[in-house]
Amino acid sequence: MPDIAFINGRFIPWQDATVSIDDRGFQFGDAVYEVIRTYRGTPFQLGAHLARLERSAKELLISRPYSRAQWMQWINHGLSLAGYQEAKIYIQITRGVAPREHSFPSESRPTVVMTIKELHGLPTEMRQTGVTACTCEDLRWGRCDIKSVNLLANVLAREEARKARVFEAIFVREGLVMEGALSNVMAVQDGVVMTAPEGPRILSGVTRTVVLDLAKKEDIPVEERPISLDALYSADEVFLTGTTLEVLGVVQIDGKIIGSGQPGLITRTLAARWALLTG
Ligand code: PLP
Repeated sequence: MPDIAFINGRFIPWQDATVSIDDRGFQFGDAVYEVIRTYRGTPFQLGAHLARLERSAKELLISRPYSRAQWMQWINHGLSLAGYQEAKIYIQITRGVAPREHSFPSESRPTVVMTIKELHGLPTEMRQTGVTACTCEDLRWGRCDIKSVNLLANVLAREEARKARVFEAIFVREGLVMEGALSNVMAVQDGVVMTAPEGPRILSGVTRTVVLDLAKKEDIPVEERPISLDALYSADEVFLTGTTLEVLGVVQIDGKIIGSGQPGLITRTLAARWALLTG
């Protein structure tokens, strides 16, 4: 079977999958999600992704549909049905189906959707040359640490990026760099890797954690601290991290050239370590 969907415990072909129009995910964006990728058939950092999914649901008081062990079984089953070596696993848990009323329904069962599709990685050339970005005002709510499907501000930011013909939009709040619309942002200055600290204003990326650990193992100093927009523009290197982006150099932001205009040494070192870890 090719692309696979899973709805509430049942695997079906992706094109046949539907949910109710009364689902609160559809009505209110009352839902959380995760994106996990595989390398040669094995989900990467599955435990960390499932832990974040559980945490996101818990923060929104959405009940937990499956234990971690059950999730692992469903995911492995889905992967064997889909048969892809490089797959993108998307999971969404909504508060369920109920008459449209903002407050929680007295009774509802979470709707659980998972899709498994083939993952097409970024072109090698893009990794070698680096990508461009723009910055935009961070219009998001105060709980960006929850991976909720309420992504309107991200949608608008990505559209700005598309119109500006750049790869990613970087959210800036009160002059400080938060993260990308679908990535975490790291800047390198004088050999130190800097990135916004964890907290309610950013999503704590699974890739972010792994990359910071890789840096520490390489004896590259890491500082989790606020980065000003000026510091971003004048950084020696900037790179993005994310499940499908991995470690991706940024060479131009808002039309300003970053560093040498090519992915820098630390970016290349961390990208190479990432490739070793996952290859
Ligand atoms: N920040 C945002 C807003 C994201 O949407 C994502 C990924 O989708 C990330 C960061 C990177 O997170 P991860 O490394 O877990 O994919």
